[in-house]
Amino acid sequence: MSKKNTSKCSFCGRAKEDVQILITGVDGYICENCVTQAKQIVDTEVLHLHAKTSSKVQMEKNLKPKAIKEYLDEYVIGQDEAKKVISVAVYNHYKRLNQTVEADDVEIEKSNILMVGKTGTGKTLIVKSIAKLLNVPFTIVDATVFTEAGYVGEDVESILTRLLQVCDYDIDAAQKGIVFIDEIDKISRKGDNPSLTRDIKEGTQQSLLKLIEGTEVLVPPQGGRKHPEQKLLKVDTKNILFLCGGSFDGIDKIISKRLNTSVIGFKNGNAEEETNKENLLSYITHQDVRSYGLIPELLGRLPVLVHLEELDKTALTNILTKPKNALLKQYKKLFALENIAFDMDASAIDFIVDKALEYKLGARGLRSICEAIINDAMYELPSQPNIKEFVVTADYAREKLSKSRIAKLRVA
Ligand code: ADP
Repeated sequence: MSKKNTSKCSFCGRAKEDVQILITGVDGYICENCVTQAKQIVDTEVLHLHAKTSSKVQMEKNLKPKAIKEYLDEYVIGQDEAKKVISVAVYNHYKRLNQTVEADDVEIEKSNILMVGKTGTGKTLIVKSIAKLLNVPFTIVDATVFTEAGYVGEDVESILTRLLQVCDYDIDAAQKGIVFIDEIDKISRKGDNPSLTRDIKEGTQQSLLKLIEGTEVLVPPQGGRKHPEQKLLKVDTKNILFLCGGSFDGIDKIISKRLNTSVIGFKNGNAEEETNKENLLSYITHQDVRSYGLIPELLGRLPVLVHLEELDKTALTNILTKPKNALLKQYKKLFALENIAFDMDASAIDFIVDKALEYKLGARGLRSICEAIINDAMYELPSQPNIKEFVVTADYAREKLSKSRIAKLRVA
């Protein structure tokens, strides 16, 4: 038989025996390879259509720094200084966006922010709350993924892919969004020894600084390099607000050295100096962060530097009970849906907070401790319709916690 009668894909011309599936149409055929490719083309085109029909971001016009801070107060306990500085920076940032083009020569620079504070002190919470208030696209990325990826993996541009994804590829919106880069301290170049990791870390800082300062970037809409055929979207980062955060473990030693004091013990140990020792982080300057290992060029693009305080007993107690969506309020609501009046007495709250401090888990730990204590009740009570009230006491909390995995945590 001649080859003429063999069915072929009308798009790539491959013969039936060379492909797995050949779909018959009215006037031709299509193979599975061409179907896959066609789907990718359609997806990309749809993304571009979306991008073109973008809507404007709704920005609250009259939001003054005080109003921003008051809003933050509803969600974030303590951290007054940080909340104040950030409220002003955010206000200035959006004021800058609204400035008219023909203005004088004075150009307001971007007020990107660097937040330094131990894990679980509220850095992410502050940024999330601001993004919610402003109703702008927001994404969190971890600086370490770029280091690990090094030369071959994720580019820093993938940050923008994520930002585009959260606002459904509305480029206008993304260009006014907020990006939180967490663990920025993990890309510090430590020590003076030249090494490969040091180079990679410095390289990551270099590529981040361009993005943070403001540049036009071609972004693969689906991220990564897996779809080399995808059309790129152009995103300008000059109006994106970048906030970077990190715990910068050990930076207190650098601050202390600069201040010419010693972290361990003071010569004359008077009360005033003790306070200083407690609050070393409050003296932080860009110089300290530079000594820690962030390159000066990157630091120059993060002009606003704030520190977050460690949370003490009062702060943790407040976090458990006061904010709008405090854990205790959440549990009350969960039980109320079962018609059970739930509460924790003061002794239980005290016990939970002490444990969070003991395990050095900060605010993050409150939830795991509460879960360990209340889980049995959440399991049992829905099947016991007669129980209308449930109050957690310190004794109950102690007993439940002692049986949980969390109790096996070693105190550092
Ligand atoms: P960080 O980013 O500093 O590591 P997060 O903001 O992610 O910490 O905090 C973890 C959780 O702890 C938050 O979801 C929040 O419930 C709670 N939390 C931390 N700090 C505060 C705070 N200052 N006020 C209220 N809740 C807090």
